[in-house]
Amino acid sequence: MRIVQVAAEFAPFAKAGGLGEVVLGISRELVAQHHQVDVILPKYSHIHPDSLQDLAVEIPEFQSREKGRLINNTAWSAQAQDCRLHLIEAHHEDNYFNRGQIYGYPDDITRFLYFTRAVMDYLAKVQWPIDVLHLHDWHAAACAPLLRDLFSSNLQIGSVLLTLHNLEYQGKCATWDLDTIGMNGTSYLTQNKMQDPDLQHPHTINLLKGGILYADAVNTVSPTYSKEILLQEMSCGLSELFKRTKVLGILNGIDETIWNPATDPDLAARYSPTDSLLKIREAKEANKAMIQERFGLQSTNRPLVGAITRLVPQKGIHLLEAAIEMTLKRGGAFTLLGSSPIPEIQQQFNELQEKYKDHPHVFLEYRYNETLAHQLYATLDFILVPSLFEPCGLTQLIGLRYGAMPIVRSTGGLKDTVFDCEDGRVPIEKRNGFVFHEPTIEALEDALDRALHFWHTDKASCLSMLRRTMQIESGWKKPTKEYLKVYTKSQSKKAKAPLQKLKSSA
Ligand code: ADP
Repeated sequence: MRIVQVAAEFAPFAKAGGLGEVVLGISRELVAQHHQVDVILPKYSHIHPDSLQDLAVEIPEFQSREKGRLINNTAWSAQAQDCRLHLIEAHHEDNYFNRGQIYGYPDDITRFLYFTRAVMDYLAKVQWPIDVLHLHDWHAAACAPLLRDLFSSNLQIGSVLLTLHNLEYQGKCATWDLDTIGMNGTSYLTQNKMQDPDLQHPHTINLLKGGILYADAVNTVSPTYSKEILLQEMSCGLSELFKRTKVLGILNGIDETIWNPATDPDLAARYSPTDSLLKIREAKEANKAMIQERFGLQSTNRPLVGAITRLVPQKGIHLLEAAIEMTLKRGGAFTLLGSSPIPEIQQQFNELQEKYKDHPHVFLEYRYNETLAHQLYATLDFILVPSLFEPCGLTQLIGLRYGAMPIVRSTGGLKDTVFDCEDGRVPIEKRNGFVFHEPTIEALEDALDRALHFWHTDKASCLSMLRRTMQIESGWKKPTKEYLKVYTKSQSKKAKAPLQKLKSSA
């Protein structure tokens, strides 16, 4: 098959969180299974040309409509991570993609709407026959209505799949935002098109909803999340839509070449599940020593608990301060690597950092640092993921692979991947962490208590369980097979009944 991925992120060149890793993981595995994959991304100025192989201009100039005029673009192409990467450079006076960051700007809607329009203009230029156009999240969602309503006559695209990585971000905007890229905004302002379901704001357009309705198939990134979004309180306003739309749940994997403690170049000492328990323990200790020395932590025989996360409410960050206190009280050490796009939250965490500034067993670091993340995974004894909701979550999967036992709240993909060590209903060989249910300090305390008690009282069992969980299959082979099934099914369904989904939702 020829599959075209359209997204705002593609690791490692443009990564802000899990999305970039997932687009990379699926794409690479599809290539490994002999499919042809093209990934289309904005040409962000922070992508260093030297990081790309054979970077060259592909189309020197093509135009996209915006606000009634034509803007010039250049398409670049490179070989990256086994895939063909296409970068759309917009020669726009607002420097849409020359900003240093992927998101977080007041005009994000305009930037990514322009990107989707430019993607469609690019596809119309190259004229590839495409089996599946695979869109990711709201940033790419408008490609689906653009294709159906403006580009269907001059593109050959078998079917469109939209993957929902996080419903919290939906791309809500005004009708005139659609007008800017040549769509007639008001004509989409109905419930069976792109009008936001919240009728208290009847003039709002919802780009993600547009993607959901106009795509041929839709999936979330874990089975549990695909069910949770049917509940009003978990659906970010889209539950009614999901009751009428089939949404599949395909559990994310992790890229096992990037996340492999046996080969990871960032580690002080490497280790694998085939090593002896002693060797694994020594290697983890050596990694811990490197971190302790670098960050001035006292080196003692304490269990290290940590979180590596975006500091946003979704991630249960209201529990982190209590987690630090509880860990210290139970003889542990705590580390946090994270940063917040929300200034007030960042400020609160700066105050927390001040509070623990000279503490010998607490290390809080606020930046995005891939190398440090790798080193911490290899150092942690426990990775804490207390999310309020979690479409899939990658940090618990990476933690498992690096021998850091997850302590998680039971939600979304965390529920699908972490099974409590003391849960008698789960077969022993599946148990791999500690789980709590309510997003409260009391519930977290119970899980942390049990986890640290296990570490303090039975180190040998703890280590052998870690070695077992390091071997759990979490790569992209299985999820990619499921994606291929969806690709094939959506194509044949579309061939039989074009426009069926839109009509049934009308
Ligand atoms: P989300 O995509 O919602 O942020 P995920 O758990 O799906 O959460 O993916 C998070 C990814 O981002 C993981 O690979 C994690 O290691 C990485 N990450 C998060 N914060 C940082 C940070 N400050 N520095 C480096 N990597 C980070």
